[in-house]
Amino acid sequence: MVVITETPKAFDFIVVGGGTAGCVVAGRLAENPNVSVLVVEAGIDNPAAVDAITTPATAFTLRGSKYDWSFKTGMIDRPEYTRIEKPNTRGKVLGGSSCLNYYTWIPGSAATFNDWEEFGGSEWTWETCKDYLYKPATYHDDRGEHRPELKYIGQDGPLPVSHSDMLPETEGFRDALTRAWVSKGERLTDDVHNGEMLGLWKCINTIYNGKRSSSWRFLEGKPNITVLGQTNAKKLIFEDGKAVGVEVIGPDSQVYSLRAKHEVIVSLGVYETPKLLLLSGIGPDAELAKFGIDSVVKSEHVGQNLLDHPILPHVFKLKDGFGLENHLLRPGLEKDAAASAYRWKNKGPLTSGLLELVGLPRIDKYLEKSPEYVAFKKANGGVDPFGPGGQPHFEIDFVPMFCDAFQWHIPTPPKGDYMTVIVDLLRPLSRSGTVTLNSTDPLQQANININFFSNDLDLVAMRQGVRFIDDILMNGDGMKDIIEEDYPWAMPRNSDEAMDTMIKERSQTGFHPCGTARLGQNIEQGAVDSKLKVFGIDNLRVIDASVIPVIPDCRIQNSVYMIAEKGADMIKAAYPSLYA
Ligand SMILES: Cc1cc2nc3c(=O)[nH]c(=O)nc-3n(C[C@H](O)[C@H](O)[C@H](O)COP(=O)(O)OP(=O)(O)OC[C@H]3O[C@@H](n4cnc5c(N)ncnc54)[C@H](O)[C@@H]3O)c2cc1C
Repeated sequence: MVVITETPKAFDFIVVGGGTAGCVVAGRLAENPNVSVLVVEAGIDNPAAVDAITTPATAFTLRGSKYDWSFKTGMIDRPEYTRIEKPNTRGKVLGGSSCLNYYTWIPGSAATFNDWEEFGGSEWTWETCKDYLYKPATYHDDRGEHRPELKYIGQDGPLPVSHSDMLPETEGFRDALTRAWVSKGERLTDDVHNGEMLGLWKCINTIYNGKRSSSWRFLEGKPNITVLGQTNAKKLIFEDGKAVGVEVIGPDSQVYSLRAKHEVIVSLGVYETPKLLLLSGIGPDAELAKFGIDSVVKSEHVGQNLLDHPILPHVFKLKDGFGLENHLLRPGLEKDAAASAYRWKNKGPLTSGLLELVGLPRIDKYLEKSPEYVAFKKANGGVDPFGPGGQPHFEIDFVPMFCDAFQWHIPTPPKGDYMTVIVDLLRPLSRSGTVTLNSTDPLQQANININFFSNDLDLVAMRQGVRFIDDILMNGDGMKDIIEEDYPWAMPRNSDEAMDTMIKERSQTGFHPCGTARLGQNIEQGAVDSKLKVFGIDNLRVIDASVIPVIPDCRIQNSVYMIAEKGADMIKAAYPSLYA
């Protein structure tokens, strides 16, 4: 990787945004050493030098840091309740959000990818995507603790992944949780990568050997890639209906024009990709007119269809000795021991992504208790809207610690051990989020409105999800013996109305936004075609989470890596003289 600060000449390809997808695309295109690739990235270009990024257990401390875009975001905009918050985290560094995320490597159900076909055609189904879900990673099981068959999930990709470490410090927590889960009739699974994801799973993470794995690894050893760090995209350059380059604002605040011989690939992520398209004249006419921007392509879906998972984090006080607070949060002997174990042996709690077990349940019995749900399902032809193809309804994360990343409004408890339970609704019916311009200044963030709970049934599902998991935790074997009480106040489990209020107050983003330049069979349905080419303009593609048309039924980084791998192969196929 070469890092330069001076204006270069023309490159074969320009990737605008060196994030999760951008680095994968750049790395793959640079596999031909004679092809030159430029990556334009607003953040710093040396994430490997930042301990807080590379050390797994410090991920939560990155929120609101200089490596976070910290977007101001409308979370809820209902008639009786509106909430706008900051910071909404996105990585501002080479590697993008893969340098700030919480590691889980999980693909999604086959049934959900098959729903992409309606938008992307037959190139976007489980069968046509699954090899690309496996391609980015190499799975490691150095101690031979898991079934050897699992190695199919990643054989020789640049991204090392492995199972969570299963810390001895949290063995009691894990055992109690697993007993509770099973005692309530729920199943266990050790493979969620085969198209079916149901059960309690020991998670696989983008962590290996005590260090975070991020997408910048795709750039390693490729001198034909140039990274322009601390450089902001300003506007795309078009000539004769083709994208030929990008204007950027360099670290010296000067504007530079950079030219691509073949294509420009926009990979700025779900909030900045639509912003750049809009600033360049691609978007809804009315939106462009508001800012006096000349329309290049009337594309109604740019900045629309923003999807995300609403989550409800909540906390239980545990008996002393079952959490990680003293090892990671509070000064003292245990924290010193953790720092020393990491420093000298690359071991201990700091190697952990803090999430060892993830639950992927269906909660039909709980949903069926709600008259609103029953009526909706009946009107929907008897089809369950939250998991129509048998997908899990929720991802439930169990963190053996109070974690402020999801609930910074609540004080971190000064003593004692805690558990944070994150209830993540996987197929919300609220699908009307938007990203619109706020200004023509490229350095101003766009207006972001996720619009959680615009559909009332999502509130119903969320309250039932909380009741489902709390019944397991509070009444199932094992866990009930170590749980003491809710923190910081009692969960109003017996009142629908009070639950709704609490959900509106405490819900957050699961950090899985997507959809703002979605795939479509035509420009009436989406912003990019099945080859990820922007409708209405040549030599321009979008490759990042923005193109996702149906939100994956789990965390989404594996999907983003898949899109990038597949997109890179589509570009290679379009240039046979470069990639014979
Ligand atoms: C806190 C957090 C936790 C998460 N946890 C998980 C998890 O555990 N598992 C999982 O599967 N997924 C997780 N995700 C989601 C996942 O990481 C993202 O969906 C994915 O990384 C998005 O990739 P992307 O390429 O679309 O965007 P990004 O990776 O965000 O890349 C966009 C890049 O463009 C750059 N950029 C933006 N604007 C400009 C500009 N104007 N000029 C130049 N450069 C610019 C950014 O700096 C960034 O590098 C998490 C995300 C976050 C934020």
